[in-house]
Amino acid sequence: MMTSEPGLDWRWQAVLGRDRQYEACFVYAVASTGIYCRPTCPSRRPRRDRVRFFASAIAAEAAGFRPCKRCQPQSLHPADSPSAKVLLACRYLEAHRDRIPALQELGEQVGLSPSHLQRQFKKALGISPYQYGDALRRDRLKQALKSCSSVTAALYETGYGSSSRLYETALSQLGMTPMNYQQGAKDQTISYAIARSPLGYLLVAATEVGLCHVRLGEAPDPLEQELRQEFPAATLQPQAELQAWIETLIDYLSGNQPWPQLPVDVKATAFQRQVWEALRQIPAGTTLTYSQLAEKLGQPQATRAVARACATNPVALAIPCHRIVPKSGGVGGYRWGAERKQQLLALEKLEKTDNSQLSPKA
Ligand SMILES: [Zn+2]
Repeated sequence: MMTSEPGLDWRWQAVLGRDRQYEACFVYAVASTGIYCRPTCPSRRPRRDRVRFFASAIAAEAAGFRPCKRCQPQSLHPADSPSAKVLLACRYLEAHRDRIPALQELGEQVGLSPSHLQRQFKKALGISPYQYGDALRRDRLKQALKSCSSVTAALYETGYGSSSRLYETALSQLGMTPMNYQQGAKDQTISYAIARSPLGYLLVAATEVGLCHVRLGEAPDPLEQELRQEFPAATLQPQAELQAWIETLIDYLSGNQPWPQLPVDVKATAFQRQVWEALRQIPAGTTLTYSQLAEKLGQPQATRAVARACATNPVALAIPCHRIVPKSGGVGGYRWGAERKQQLLALEKLEKTDNSQLSPKA
């Protein structure tokens, strides 16, 4: 669990406080001296506007900074750290569109034993590498089913091969065997958990298939009430097992992890589903306007309908509707507060800059 103060400038706070907890999480570099340090370096604190943050010593050196002689940040070797390797594994999984690379292969790629990688990956993202690859594959299948002439072609193209068992599983995960949301999710069990995050309280609710409800708010009680209103007939179960997903989202909101693509299970019209899927394709750190998104969907006239679909997104963060901004400038509205949207966009921009320092030769 993150215990840092809310707010996006956690790295700067860690530097000011010489916080040991973040020792291995990043280094900071000072533009005026060309030197980079551990967060805990005993040297005088630099001016905020001269500081740049890097995920690792190697990234700082790649940007032309030299290690500090006092705190010797190069001996931290965070590029060899498990979290950097987990990121590499994600990129590797994303690069393979026709199959899910096996754990053994992934481990060889990033230099971890299969079991160690499995453990670190789960710790960081809340799901296994296979589940991550499977979620990517499911998204590809959804897209392919729309454009391919046959189901078989779509299956081959997206890495399912001819396995009918896998196909059936995929169909149920696509929500094509619909849960009876119309009746308020009668007979459905929905687990949920609430935690403090850098953007306020975070409520995460999920079926067995994926996230069905993610909200941000000022206090836990109203969040819980909204959940009950949304699914009046469902059995709602507070569940600690969702902790992994909560932690994944909090790690992302704290700037420790890139945006996680988590499985979702949401009620949607065909149009909403199309818009929400398109939202999940927008890379973190970039934004589109409503009309750009409408054009992307091949429906340039549907800007207002697209805006409505964005505004009715039931799963904050997991479907990143915050990446849509108005043409006229500014960040625009957000169901969970414009200020939060602004913070999310700033966070993703920062992450993008940081991670580009680390990205593998793809
Ligand atoms: Zn130093």
